[in-house]
Amino acid sequence: MDISRIFTISESNHRIHNPFTEDKYATLGAALRLEPGTRVLDLGSGSGEMLCTWARDHGISGIGIDMSPLFTEQARRRAGELGVADRVEFIHGDAAGYIAEEKVGVAACIGATWIGGGVGGSIDLLARSLCVGGIILIGEPFWLRLPPTEEIAKGCGAQSVSDFLVLPDRVASFGDLGYDVVEMVLADRDGWDRYEAAKWLTMRRWLDANPGDEFAREVRSLLRSEPVRHVTYTREYLGWGVFALLAR
Ligand code: SAH
Repeated sequence: MDISRIFTISESNHRIHNPFTEDKYATLGAALRLEPGTRVLDLGSGSGEMLCTWARDHGISGIGIDMSPLFTEQARRRAGELGVADRVEFIHGDAAGYIAEEKVGVAACIGATWIGGGVGGSIDLLARSLCVGGIILIGEPFWLRLPPTEEIAKGCGAQSVSDFLVLPDRVASFGDLGYDVVEMVLADRDGWDRYEAAKWLTMRRWLDANPGDEFAREVRSLLRSEPVRHVTYTREYLGWGVFALLAR
């Protein structure tokens, strides 16, 4: 079981696989006023940076599930580096339908809401693992401004303009689902650059090391087009944030 190979190549050097940076995860961890010992579930945990740093800084314990064997291995290694391997566990697997055996105080899906079939479905899935009074975290893109054409939405990596909402509608949507939005930390353009631009050097280094690989043509073509695509579309039109929700 694995994710598409392009991510395994282009994001192999990322600790965070979305436009958040280390300081944004630190801000979010502090904003949530996490008590030591809080159990945190993370569906689509990537390379584990959120759980590992929160275990180090706030004494939480955590379980992360991710479909990528590479990212899961990196997460376990990071837990060891930060001295929190006894408190965070990383499971390689499909998180669709995953429900924690023991209820958690925080249940998160950060930049992977397709796991629950969209934002609403992911909230429902996370809620099934949550203690009464627990917090749900959703990390999701939104439109900074509505793309005037479908072509621009596609340039941002969306299938269609309707894939995402503008921020006021995104925030209102959580209320419509019966949740209070109790905290919010948004990514910025520098964060988008860290996520997107960091792929370029990784791809270039991979190409230099693997010129004969059957995937090299595809990576070469992406490296040619991605920098201009990013500054033309994603950087201009797409926002991203993590929203903390409490059931009303
Ligand atoms: N939350 C992480 C990773 C976000 S990127 C971070 O903040 O860095 C999305 C992640 O979802 C990737 O690590 C990918 O491997 C994982 N993923 C994709 N589909 C999945 C699925 N069905 N089950 C579990 N993980 C999945």
